[in-house]
Amino acid sequence: MEARNITQTEEQVLILDSVAQFLRRDVEPYAHDLEARDEYPREIADKMADLGLFGATISPEYGGLGLSALTFAKITEMVSSVWMSVSGIFSSHLIMAAVVERYGTDEMKQAYLPRFASGELRGGIALTEPDCGTDLQGIRTRAKRDGGDYVITGSKMWITNSVEGQILLVLVKTDMEAVPPHRGMSLLLVDKARGYKAKKLKKVGYRGIDTGELQFDDVRVPAENLVGTEEGRGLQQILNGLELGRINVAARGVGLADVCLRESLAYAQTRQTFGKPICRHQTIQIKLADMATRVEAARLLVERAANAYDSGQRCDLEAGMAKLFATEAAVENSMEAMRIHGAYGYSKEYNIERYYRDAPLLAIGEGTNELQRIIIARQLVERNPV
Ligand SMILES: Cc1cc2nc3c(=O)[nH]c(=O)nc-3n(C[C@H](O)[C@H](O)[C@H](O)COP(=O)(O)OP(=O)(O)OC[C@H]3O[C@@H](n4cnc5c(N)ncnc54)[C@H](O)[C@@H]3O)c2cc1C
Repeated sequence: MEARNITQTEEQVLILDSVAQFLRRDVEPYAHDLEARDEYPREIADKMADLGLFGATISPEYGGLGLSALTFAKITEMVSSVWMSVSGIFSSHLIMAAVVERYGTDEMKQAYLPRFASGELRGGIALTEPDCGTDLQGIRTRAKRDGGDYVITGSKMWITNSVEGQILLVLVKTDMEAVPPHRGMSLLLVDKARGYKAKKLKKVGYRGIDTGELQFDDVRVPAENLVGTEEGRGLQQILNGLELGRINVAARGVGLADVCLRESLAYAQTRQTFGKPICRHQTIQIKLADMATRVEAARLLVERAANAYDSGQRCDLEAGMAKLFATEAAVENSMEAMRIHGAYGYSKEYNIERYYRDAPLLAIGEGTNELQRIIIARQLVERNPV
């Protein structure tokens, strides 16, 4: 469905138009086959670089487009309604960039941000490990200072853009004994050329895009690759970056929930049973009404969270609510789309089965929805003391 009219600058209208054209011409015709082959959409990624999407939220002084979180969310929604995997190519890359822009030294920003913005260097964030995801303070990847270098040892799991990308922001422990453990956690920028090994994993959905398992065996990086000027700030730095990440995942949820609604609405008007289109049966009407209401409510929550982010407010409550609601909307709408399409929903010929496979990732990534509820409840208590 068409998004509610929000005030947009001329520049935003132009970029949204270019993205719409890119999706129609360069993504939609190829998504189905690339997804089926689990093939990385290299040409699509290169065209995204031409459009400036790798620098969408990076400041113009570093060569980025400097878009607001709100415009970025709209782009993500549009891309995800065509093929969600494509949004993953630039979203974790932009979280990496946001953290470097907010916390990096001037030298680091000058050295990396222009190359992130152009798409010459593409990457993501490496937090999760084989034994821990939600409880990040339990990570075991270690970076030991050795003269002017850090030497990294350990493994990471489920890291997006790690096989095709050239660089990652890696969460490590620089002090294994620190209490509480987050005081011993730091972020390092690590070029792939430094020698970590990455292997692409097989997944139910979110195919095409590379999600990898990484091994660091004494990988050496210069000490200047530490984000910021002191160790022990890494967890806080990445958690702030994840606010943008959660708004982004929520926007993916809106895109997916919306395309499920649109395709179901069209199908329900043409498919006939018992002498009338199925959209005239009350059970189907209830499904369509609930799907549409979820899309609108999710979109409003994303706008609210993005506006809070853009105004510089702390927005973990807003981003958490948007992420929780919009991603559950995507999961529910994909199931309802499959029911409305009957057997055709279960067919590989239609897109519905892809939406149904892609949606559950949104409830897991960027902090599971169980964790979002914990964050929301903690914030409610913190903001409403008695
Ligand atoms: C396709 C894909 C791409 C990904 N990309 C990246 C990436 O680019 N970078 C990256 O770092 N990670 C990435 N991840 C990892 C993702 O962020 C983690 O899977 C996620 O954070 C959950 O961690 P986990 O899988 O280890 O689950 P666990 O932390 O082991 O949790 C298992 C279950 O327990 C629940 N749980 C845990 N703790 C609590 C609690 N305190 N209270 C209630 N319930 C709890 C969880 O919600 C979940 O249901 C990706 C994952 C996938 C599948």
